[in-house]
Amino acid sequence: MTEAATIPSALDRYEVVIGLEVHAQLLTRSKMFCPCPADYTSAAPNENTCPVCLGLPGVLPVINQQAVEYTVRTALALHCDIPPFTKFDRKNYFYPDLPKGYQISQYDLPLSINGHLEFPVGGETVRCGITRVHLEEDTGTMHHAGDVLQSAMSSLIDLNRCGVPLMEIVGEPDLRAPEAAREYLVRLRQILTYIGVNDGNLEQGSFRCDANISLRPRGAQELGVKVEVKNMNSFRAVQRALESEIERQTSVLDAGGTLVQETRGWVEAHGRTISQRSKEQAHDYRYFPEPDLPPLRLDAAFVERVRATLPELPEARAHRFQEQYGLTAYDAAVLTDTREEADTYEALVGAGVPAKLAANWQSGDVAALANEHRMPLQHSGLGVEGLASLLRLVDSGAINGPTAKELLAELYVAGGNPEALVRDRGLAQVSDTAELTALVDAAIAANPAAAADFRAGKQQALGQLMRSVKEATGGKADMPLVNRLLRDRLSEQ
Ligand SMILES: [Zn+2]
Repeated sequence: MTEAATIPSALDRYEVVIGLEVHAQLLTRSKMFCPCPADYTSAAPNENTCPVCLGLPGVLPVINQQAVEYTVRTALALHCDIPPFTKFDRKNYFYPDLPKGYQISQYDLPLSINGHLEFPVGGETVRCGITRVHLEEDTGTMHHAGDVLQSAMSSLIDLNRCGVPLMEIVGEPDLRAPEAAREYLVRLRQILTYIGVNDGNLEQGSFRCDANISLRPRGAQELGVKVEVKNMNSFRAVQRALESEIERQTSVLDAGGTLVQETRGWVEAHGRTISQRSKEQAHDYRYFPEPDLPPLRLDAAFVERVRATLPELPEARAHRFQEQYGLTAYDAAVLTDTREEADTYEALVGAGVPAKLAANWQSGDVAALANEHRMPLQHSGLGVEGLASLLRLVDSGAINGPTAKELLAELYVAGGNPEALVRDRGLAQVSDTAELTALVDAAIAANPAAAADFRAGKQQALGQLMRSVKEATGGKADMPLVNRLLRDRLSEQ
């Protein structure tokens, strides 16, 4: 690949302009306009459907209030204004996954407007405007016999997803690099999962992103020809697709050609985008106000009631973690990455584990085990309470670090009571000074050469003496104390 070599030089001559559109399914129990379950993955194909979401004649949609609340919650988290009056519109187009022949969406009066999202990229803060957050319904899904529709012998349709509440978050074209686009998505997904409106799954498509990208000569005011890129189902795919599109558009412009406004699909296997269709204009959809639904008036009291359901957002929480628990910016960011992670941390501290000790273990050994077993702490045998009691044993000096590590790995899978295990197996740390002093003396007597080397200035000779005491206690010695006692003894003349 030549991406790495060509992009920087392209960026000398052209400014990249990227705007992202995110579609996020809302975690409501039922669909947007009917009582069918919104869960479309665990049911048999077409099981969760009814006359409303199948688009049969003579039925009327009913607005899902929870979906409206979730969209307003999202809009507030993104600093949007909530106009007092909003309505739904029909977006007309034909495709087999949309049996009504139109999608109920929002056109000129969306639920919210004028927000923004701020996030760091390479040490600088990027601020991206949010044009609007509106509410619509999802379509069904198609399964082609073969890779793509064009060459398929047959296609199957599943309408379980048809009518699932979908939020569209339209970003301003404020992003200037693929990395910024990726970070915008990472941060947006973090916020949506924090506020509990979306599960953030790019692979399964509950969080989807389309990108608009254009290039213009540096210094130009006018925007270049915009290309919409689809089919990116990971953060990495978004970044790679945009990089590849910059490369393609640069070569067209450099050769004196003109770009076509079109929709292109990212093909992961080929590492490039391919043309899908020329871009529709809004008038192609013949939007008109949805005649079967009343407009919505969202009064200030409703908006404030929704605002009260907003949890502390990740950025604010990370900031508070630094102030309240004395964590570094890095630790605070790691421990507030997800709401579950942050809740776990505060539960540990609330259960009497010192802040720094909790941070070290949670972001170190516990995170490694969660990764290894693909199981978060909350669902492990140990659980948050079990980890708290294990770490209290470490804090009080009842067990030493290596013993705690072994117990952690065992309990994470098998479960059990740390205190009872320590008692039953006699794992308690040996930290009695008199007992350890006797063992230190025995170690020095048994290893005269090492003792002489240390006295002669060879620091590393202490290791052999430390090991000797450790073995004598079955690995349970308080090793920092052993280290001190050995040094004291060996410095005596
Ligand atoms: Zn239905």
